[in-house]
This record gives sequence, C-alpha cells and structure tokens, in this order.
Amino acid sequence: MVYTMKKYVAFMLTFLASHISTAEWATHEFDVMGTRASVELWADKDMQASKLFAAVENEMRRIERVMSPYIETSELSAINRLDKNEILNISSEMYTVINKALYFSDITHGAFDISFASVGFLYDYRQRRQPDELTRLQSLAAVDYKSILLAKPYIEEDLAGQYTIQFLREGMKIDLGGIAKGYAVDQSIAILKEQGVLSALVSAGGDTRILGDRGKANASAETLPWIVGIKHPRDKTQQAMRLPLSDTAISTSGDYERFFIENGERIHHIIHPATGKSSSGIVSATVIGPESISCDALSTSIFVLGVEKGLKLIDEIIDYDAIIIDTDGKVHYSSGLTAQ
Ligand code: AMP
Ligand code: MG
Repeated sequence: MVYTMKKYVAFMLTFLASHISTAEWATHEFDVMGTRASVELWADKDMQASKLFAAVENEMRRIERVMSPYIETSELSAINRLDKNEILNISSEMYTVINKALYFSDITHGAFDISFASVGFLYDYRQRRQPDELTRLQSLAAVDYKSILLAKPYIEEDLAGQYTIQFLREGMKIDLGGIAKGYAVDQSIAILKEQGVLSALVSAGGDTRILGDRGKANASAETLPWIVGIKHPRDKTQQAMRLPLSDTAISTSGDYERFFIENGERIHHIIHPATGKSSSGIVSATVIGPESISCDALSTSIFVLGVEKGLKLIDEIIDYDAIIIDTDGKVHYSSGLTAQ
C-alpha cells in the first residue's frame, strides 16, 4: 500500500492514539431482582470502570433490598404485612415509586395496578402453581389501586413530616415488579452521568436505558447508535427486531419471561387486574421513551390493555412510542414510529 505523507501522518496519529489511550469499552453483568443486569460503558482513563460498575451494582442491590417482596426485611414486605386501615411510615423513595405506579393506574384505568399482587402472590411459575377459581375470585376483592392511600408531608421541606401508606381493603398486597427495574435502571444511569460517563447502556431484564451513543465517547468516531434487540417471543435463538437507538430508554414485557403451560393455556406473570388471570392477546409489548421507569410501567400496561387501547394510550403520551406483537405474530407500531 502506498501512503502519501499526509495519509501516513494521519495513520500514525490514529495508531498511536489507539495504543496510548487507556479508554475502553467495558462490560459487567450480575444477577439482581430475579433477573440478569448488564452495564456497558466507555470508561475514560480517569474513570475506573470497576468503580463505576460497583456503584451501579450497589445501587441495584440496595433497591432490591428495599423493594423485593421476597426479602422479609424489605420495606415492601413491611407494607404487605399491613392490616386494613393501619398506617405505616415509608421512605420518600418508596413514596415516589408507588406514587408513580398510581399515576400509571390512573391513566390506564387500572390496567396497571400494583395491588394485582393480592391475587398475583397465589401464582408460582416455577412450581407451576395457580389459584383455583374460587380463591382467585375471592382475592380479587383486594385488587384496587384506589384503596392504596399515600400521604406526604404538607410541605416537602418539612423534614420531620412523614410519608405514609395505608390500605383500605382487607388482604391487600402490592408488588413493584412492573416498575422497580425501570426505576433501578434510571438510578444507575443518573449515577453514571454524575461520574462523567458520556456513553453507557444499562439493562435489568427487559428494561434498558442508553446514555449518549456509541460514538460520542470516542472523539474520532462518528455518531453511532446502539443496536438493541427485541427478543423473539417464541424463539429464544432469534430476535424479532433490531433497533438503532441513542439517549433513550426501552422496555419490553413478554409472556415468555415467566410462565408455564397447563391444558394448552399459557399461565404467565402479567396479570389482568379485572380477572386475576394472565392477560392474553399480546405476546410482547415494547415501549421507547426518555425514562426507564415510565417505559417499564407502560410496557406492562400496554400488555394488559391490548393492541387497540394500548396504541391509543401511547399515542396520547408525548415522547413515548410502542411496538406490539400480538398473538398472531402481527407487529403493530404507534403513530410516532409510522408518521412520515
Ligand atoms: P415487566 O417485567 O415489566 O414485564 O412486568 C411484569 C411484572 O409486573 C410481573 O412480574 C409482576 O411483578 C408485575 N405485574 C403483573 N401484572 C401487573 C399489573 N397488571 N400491573 C402492575 N404490575 C403487574
Ligand atoms: Mg414493564
């Protein structure tokens, strides 16, 4: 290969830069909140990737210790031990996440309802256990987000003031499985941003958020999107779709994550609050938008709402879009993705 002087100098500069620089792409994976979490980032020589990874992992584990229904000492477990009308002081963090959940209950008219857990806890997907019809119908009486009462200090700055929760129904339980992972991903991205990271991807199960793009971190590189795959709902070896994304969050809810088949029926983890049974009609709902907590709650919501109501809802929410795969394998897009 013949080099002109200019080309040779350019080549040497690039070569040296790539060999002297200690900046690099680094990845870290761990299990948390019953799923696999992963962090991928561009770490400059001043930032130590291992410290950034530890900060994200610690934050996700902290959130799990607060919000897991399986950890007896978690704040969520204490809430679930409440008797009807009993009042409990809660952290401002718990208040914020439950308050957000109730907002999504409102705008979905109850399709998203963290009190689904009052019947949801009767299912065990690993043990292939589900409630009999009578038990299911009886426990439905405790599914009603409007009977979750939150209160906060009258003035936010009132540090002595308390955040509280109260259940107005007997046997009520809540579960944050449809929103807590998205919250944890947002918290992780905030930590990385604070540390000066410009380019990262954090995911916890089906909830992912991207900071920057894949090119920004490397001054010589062009703008490059991250490529995020949506799982094929019926073939683990395949992806249904690959999307080029930057600076955004994306969540997918699917009926293939936790399920068992009984008498030809798929019993899975997304519960219709009106029936207490697994929601049907959709096999995968993906939501793309600025915040992971909202994408998480909305993907679960749309799964319950179905194609028509789900698309109508997402079209009313600015900056959020959806891709839905229905039971026949047909793909539906929100109007923000199809508009010319
Ligand atoms: P996702 O992982 O975001 O797809 O949400 C599924 C999880 O959300 C389930 O594992 C449950 O913990 C929770 N969930 C199930 N059904 C509902 C519902 N109708 N409203 C709110 N959360 C739900
Ligand atoms: Mg979700």
